[in-house]
Amino acid sequence: MLFSEIAYGPIHSRRLGTSLGVELMPLDHKLCTFNCVYCECGWNQPVSHPKLPTREQVRGALEAKLQALLNEGVSLDVITFSGNGEPTLHPDFLDIIRDTIALRNRFFPLAKVSVLSNSTQLCRPDVVEALKLCDNRILKLDAATDEMMRRIDLPVNDQISVSTIVRWLAQFDGNFTLQTCFLRGEHNGLLIDNTAADQLNAWYEAVDILHPKQIMIYVIDRKTPEEHLQKIPRDEMEQIAEPLRHKGYDVIVSA
Ligand code: SF4
Repeated sequence: MLFSEIAYGPIHSRRLGTSLGVELMPLDHKLCTFNCVYCECGWNQPVSHPKLPTREQVRGALEAKLQALLNEGVSLDVITFSGNGEPTLHPDFLDIIRDTIALRNRFFPLAKVSVLSNSTQLCRPDVVEALKLCDNRILKLDAATDEMMRRIDLPVNDQISVSTIVRWLAQFDGNFTLQTCFLRGEHNGLLIDNTAADQLNAWYEAVDILHPKQIMIYVIDRKTPEEHLQKIPRDEMEQIAEPLRHKGYDVIVSA
């Protein structure tokens, strides 16, 4: 499933409400630093010169869409950056976020600006600065052991480690939403299960280090590129959330 417009929707998001999507990655293929086995956009495709929308194109498309929604009397909860890959890969991400906040203030001052990111670009100060300007930073950590993170997320740079990502996430002093997809299955003959006791214990420890203001845990919802994956039942997801809620964390379960 790919998004073919720079500004698309609004769509109803089970996690965010009425959401206008913004696409910063190519409109005809996915571009990401991960290649998650569950990615709704499918597998990464090798492309030598990916074509990204320019800052001016994004600003123009967003302005036109927000004006049209205002004219139609549509309400908006959130402007969300996600889509066909990792939005923070865009070289002008910081300026695009500044433009978006200015447009939001002009057209829908109550709407939030949110970014869904896989956390792999948090080594870049411009990306951290941009994310701190947003209302919501929804940052991925699918597993807290290197082995399971690599099996689930298939990072393009296989040197990236959980400890590095946790260190980068700590830059937000807990002012972010931690997002984790729970799943079981198999890929290329390797077992995938971030719900196993040892995996959960490592993930709970990472949560306690990071103290995120919110935690979103969710399950696969649509067709996945790897077919041998199982959706975790709702009651099991609630059991995963329970010890965190007991400690006072705000946990949203989408299952
Ligand atoms: S990080 Fe997101 S866009 Fe990238 S592969 Fe994973 S699910 Fe897909």
